[in-house]
Amino acid sequence: MKIVRTIEDLRAQPCDGTVGLVPTMGAFHEGHLALFRAARAENDLVVASLFVNPAQFGANEDLAAYPRDEERDAQEAEEAGVDVLFAPDATELYPPGFQTWVDVEQLAGRLEGEHRPGHFRGVATICLKLFNIVGPDRAYFGQKDAQQVAVLKRMVRDLDLEVEIRVVPTVRDPDGLALSSRNAYLSPEERKLALTLPRALATKDAAQARARLNGLDVDYVEVADFEPRVLVAAVRVGKTRLIDNVVLDKERS
Ligand code: AMP
Repeated sequence: MKIVRTIEDLRAQPCDGTVGLVPTMGAFHEGHLALFRAARAENDLVVASLFVNPAQFGANEDLAAYPRDEERDAQEAEEAGVDVLFAPDATELYPPGFQTWVDVEQLAGRLEGEHRPGHFRGVATICLKLFNIVGPDRAYFGQKDAQQVAVLKRMVRDLDLEVEIRVVPTVRDPDGLALSSRNAYLSPEERKLALTLPRALATKDAAQARARLNGLDVDYVEVADFEPRVLVAAVRVGKTRLIDNVVLDKERS
């Protein structure tokens, strides 16, 4: 596996055949590895990006504290079949004077967007940049971030991008907690409390889920009419903000 730091070097990578791209912020777990394996199974060249995108963090969020371990990530990515790991500095992607943004207006303003203003503007912009830099046939995202998938599919359709968005099911720990790099922030006590979230969503009913989450610091619990429809929720456990969702009608996906 090659580690590449610049856009120029990435564009110089030889490639005949199909390219699969997996955008990530690192601190890899089995959820990321599932995306790498899906990309490996369907493409000739697999590119993963490792970039903690400052533009998708709010001023009071965990950008500085976000877990980083590039050496371990590189090893895991290689073992999962990644060919090229793109790990640029922030100035490579946001040069001085940067001022062009992608706003997916309504979709990005609800749910996560309401609680994290500007988050999806950062996500959509970095993904469009990565699509332009890598030129993938397919890009892989987790169902764990259902609204992110909806926003990116909308952007692809609205801007006529030639990339297929592929969605990989949420990978969970055996007890049901969705894997997330942010789970590393949880104390053992908090991790137990965090299990309330998947258990509430497993009811597949907004009112029941809301009742089960009663007492926790809940940002939202709602049915979202994405494709497929999902019951989504965001809660704070201590200082850690967790999101999760459950698919309601698979047959429409
Ligand atoms: P992140 O590094 O957290 O930005 O995540 C990179 C990609 O991995 C995103 O497309 C996420 O939706 C996906 N992802 C994160 N956690 C999981 C999970 N538990 N199962 C499946 N995909 C995931």
